[in-house]
Amino acid sequence: MIIEIPENSDFSIHNIPFGIFSTQNRKTRVGVAVGDHILDLAAVAELDVFDFNTAILEKDTLNAFISLGKEITTRVRKKIQYWLQHDDSVLAGKPQLFVRQSEAQMHMPVAIGDYTDFYSSLEHATNVGKMFRDAENALLPNWKHIPVGYHGRASSIIVTGQPIHRPKGQTKPNDAEAPVFGPTKRLDFELEMGFICGKDTNLGESVPTKEAEDYIFGLVLFNDWSARDIQKWEYVPLGPFLAKNFASSISPWVVTLEALDPFKTEGPTQEPEVLPYLQFEGPKNYDIHLEVGITPETGEETIVSHSNFKYMYWNMSQQLAHHTINGCNINVGDMMASGTISGKDENSFGSMLELSWGGTKPIKLKDGTERKFIEDNDTVTMRGYAQQGDIRVGFGEVTTKVLPAK
Ligand code: CA
Repeated sequence: MIIEIPENSDFSIHNIPFGIFSTQNRKTRVGVAVGDHILDLAAVAELDVFDFNTAILEKDTLNAFISLGKEITTRVRKKIQYWLQHDDSVLAGKPQLFVRQSEAQMHMPVAIGDYTDFYSSLEHATNVGKMFRDAENALLPNWKHIPVGYHGRASSIIVTGQPIHRPKGQTKPNDAEAPVFGPTKRLDFELEMGFICGKDTNLGESVPTKEAEDYIFGLVLFNDWSARDIQKWEYVPLGPFLAKNFASSISPWVVTLEALDPFKTEGPTQEPEVLPYLQFEGPKNYDIHLEVGITPETGEETIVSHSNFKYMYWNMSQQLAHHTINGCNINVGDMMASGTISGKDENSFGSMLELSWGGTKPIKLKDGTERKFIEDNDTVTMRGYAQQGDIRVGFGEVTTKVLPAK
């Protein structure tokens, strides 16, 4: 091995995820996470080992690289895997090609043109329905027929490490006659995964489920910040708006769909049967362990949720097929998020709304304090990894500190 990869690293030889980083001495460029290091692909390109225009490795987003297409990007990934495992490869004796992750600044990996958020966890949709409506009408009649989603806001998607301010807005407390304005009292995270589109379509074209994977470049962890009190007042009749668009945070390394292939698994049985354009063959879910931790300003982290991406009722291929069935076009860099990923058990719920059951059951943290929702100066961290035997492919983390309202 050209460089040591610690055991249990998310960034094993099987992963090779792509991201955008900068260092004190050099501006943003494309890199690959390897163990605790980053392989600087712009520097590797200077060895004249790539057969494409390597200027795209000097860009501040992955969009141009992804646009090369899977045939090329997959070849790059395989080459890197080969080089790293062969002591006489082009990478040998060139420590300057590797940067310590601790000495690098990570940036948004892609320029996101459009962002769509789905609502694809049966458990989450049911839980929210129970709280926002009632147990009888928890799941609306369309939910098992349509991968429900809405168009979100791309401009406020940020990368790990960037703090957010508690958003302000309009709410209507239950005991108030008129709405009031102020900082949200119910700031929440949503544990999601997002996939990044890797191929354009033209207006009028649709992506069938059997081709959908060709259009998915890779995945990131996705924290879809939410303000529950604002949401409750605004969401009828057109759905989420300012309760959702103030920020969503993502992990910086894009893990390719190919790296996740060994972790494919069957999803939940879909009953009633879905319409033909949503039918698919073979396993389309992914077994990815997920967790959420809350770290208070002066305390240690408490893990408040353990979930798994495999719980999703609707899979990514169905989401993409549905999104494009009317001819809506997609572009490289578009972000499609899963919706909150909750499991059946209470400790697998993917939001504070569910974990504290609408604020009625506070959660105890290790420092003795309690949380119903996220407090000022709390840091929320999400992690995710897939593992099978010795093969581990992980996402690292997305971590965000919440500052008081401005
Ligand atoms: Ca969401």
